[in-house]
Amino acid sequence: MKLQNLHDLFVDELKDIYSAEKQLVKALPKMAQASSSQKLKDAFEKHLAQTKVHVERIESVFKSMDKKPTAKTCKAMEGLIEEGKELISEEAEESTKDAGLICAAQKVEHYEIASYGCLVTFANHLGLDKGAKILQQTLEEEKETDQLLTEIAESEINVQAEG
Ligand code: FE
Ligand code: FE
Repeated sequence: MKLQNLHDLFVDELKDIYSAEKQLVKALPKMAQASSSQKLKDAFEKHLAQTKVHVERIESVFKSMDKKPTAKTCKAMEGLIEEGKELISEEAEESTKDAGLICAAQKVEHYEIASYGCLVTFANHLGLDKGAKILQQTLEEEKETDQLLTEIAESEINVQAEG
């Protein structure tokens, strides 16, 4: 279907992030399970709970536009998750693997931050105030998660992984 305008692009991007978030609901428990650090495990589990809410928020944005929530496979997230899986199956020292898991997770967060950043900008421009507000909440949580991961890396994991 031809994307005619910014509104069409907004809906298309919303379908992409809907797919991405649903993939993450499945991937995050595996990231938590692969973590040796309790702090990192907890961070992944907390973000899993948030991610389930992110899925619901996207559904409510679709509904606010009288649209049925639809996903369009996010190939970028498939790739990022695939790389995470590769790392999980790698033979590595515990803290070294944890450092790698943080790196993989931060790549995911940055993809989400870019996506939600665009979505919020589009929604504001289109006068979709309700949608903009909902998506902004998720954007903030993605940024917080990214920061939390940096803190865990700097305060604990990278020091241990240094060897
Ligand atoms: Fe999310
Ligand atoms: Fe996230």
